[in-house]
Amino acid sequence: MDCLFCKIAAGEIPSKTVYEDAEILAFYDIEPQAPVHVLVIPKEHIPSVDGITAENSEVVAHIFETIPKIAAKLGLSGGYRVISNCGADAGQTVPHLHFHILGGKPLSLHMA
Ligand code: 5GP
Ligand code: ZN
Repeated sequence: MDCLFCKIAAGEIPSKTVYEDAEILAFYDIEPQAPVHVLVIPKEHIPSVDGITAENSEVVAHIFETIPKIAAKLGLSGGYRVISNCGADAGQTVPHLHFHILGGKPLSLHMA
């Protein structure tokens, strides 16, 4: 499949890994919008939040169970924001489910 994040998950396109296990990958965003900006993705292709179903939600639960560990590893003791853009109006640019972790400074009410 011609999907950027599937290729990153497969190691075909390099990324700076923060956390990896059999089901998920966390890596630094190429265009950081905060001092710390990491993306967490399922390795399996799910297009967006709209594509989450009873059949694949286990990996989403796993992502959310792992986010606190990733945030701790990143030193985000002051807090952080988790965002997922879904569809055109939200400005989703990569059609593979991903959760932004943003932090490292007090954030505004916007994306960063
Ligand atoms: P979206 O706009 O879909 O919510 O988020 C996509 C994110 O992926 C953006 O923040 C963008 O900077 C990031 N991104 C796009 N291409 C690449 C890439 O090749 N490598 C990495 N690490 N991040 C990317
Ligand atoms: Zn994909």
